Amino acid sequence: MRESYCGLCDDCQLGNRGFLETVFRLKEYLARFRANWWVHCFPEEEGFDFGELRKGLDWFLSHTECPGCKGGRGLEDCPIRNCAISRGLEHCSQCPDLGPCTKFDFLLKEFPDVKINLRRRQLKLKAQEFHRQLESYKK
Ligand code: SF4
Ligand code: SF4
Repeated sequence: MRESYCGLCDDCQLGNRGFLETVFRLKEYLARFRANWWVHCFPEEEGFDFGELRKGLDWFLSHTECPGCKGGRGLEDCPIRNCAISRGLEHCSQCPDLGPCTKFDFLLKEFPDVKINLRRRQLKLKAQEFHRQLESYKK
């Protein structure tokens, strides 16, 4: 599983079988409808570069592997990654300052759930720890 500090890579759909099948089917549809021939009916700003679209679809089909943010991908100088590393944390869900943290602000427009998911994971980890402690008291 690819991993990141903020949790985005954990849910990444790159290489997902259902997604790849959809892209493959879309390519087949476009070929069957000969879309490359009628795209010119929508000139200039109404149209789009069909070659680029096809290149993008091929890209998804050929880039199914990614090591994730912890494997060297992700934003260069990401404030989240830099902060987590400097605190010696494996994941932001381990951080006691997650609630008021503003380092996620640049992600929230595209990924409004990113902090909520982290908070959920944090609560789950806390509950697991609590149960572990309870079990150890029983022994
Ligand atoms: S580089 Fe930053 S934003 Fe991208 S996945 Fe890693 S921690 Fe998240
Ligand atoms: S303060 Fe905590 S939650 Fe915010 S980026 Fe740093 S490690 Fe992650």
